[in-house]
Amino acid sequence: MRQFDTNLLFKALSFAANKHRHQVRKGSEPIPYINHPIALADLLARTGNVSDPEIIAAALLHDTVEDTCTTAEELEAEFGPVISQLVAELTDDKLPKEERKRLQFEHASSLSPRARIVKIADKICNLRDIVEDPPAGWLLERKQQYFDWAKSVVDKIRGTNVELENAFDEAFANRPKN
Ligand code: ZN
Repeated sequence: MRQFDTNLLFKALSFAANKHRHQVRKGSEPIPYINHPIALADLLARTGNVSDPEIIAAALLHDTVEDTCTTAEELEAEFGPVISQLVAELTDDKLPKEERKRLQFEHASSLSPRARIVKIADKICNLRDIVEDPPAGWLLERKQQYFDWAKSVVDKIRGTNVELENAFDEAFANRPKN
């Protein structure tokens, strides 16, 4: 990887770590939120064989606008229009949760190929988290509903990265049953 790309990736990682610094995911113990974007980047590189640094940078940044005070303008100033546009594709509007989920499903097929790759990785990581260390208070039905919704989204964007789609199917095979 070129020096330029390495600089971009560490800049994105450092930016995201700073923005998410007060956030945790609540499983059996609080987990720093930044572990999630890092897991996406790792999955993209090592399972998806993704070497496009803009995709990996967008994965590191994918929740900054949705979940922190970061603005699209700030991302564009720091990382340029390509990465900020990719993150924008991956950002849900600030609406009630069920409405967001419905819109993600509805908009999935209009995602660009690069955004699709990050979206699939996001869903894989979320399914794995639910199996390995479920969010506090999630009962069986909620877990199953999340799995089914994630699959409905991924099914609309297949044909993008076969390794990641296989990894999704493997994660989905662990859909909680009891
Ligand atoms: Zn995410």
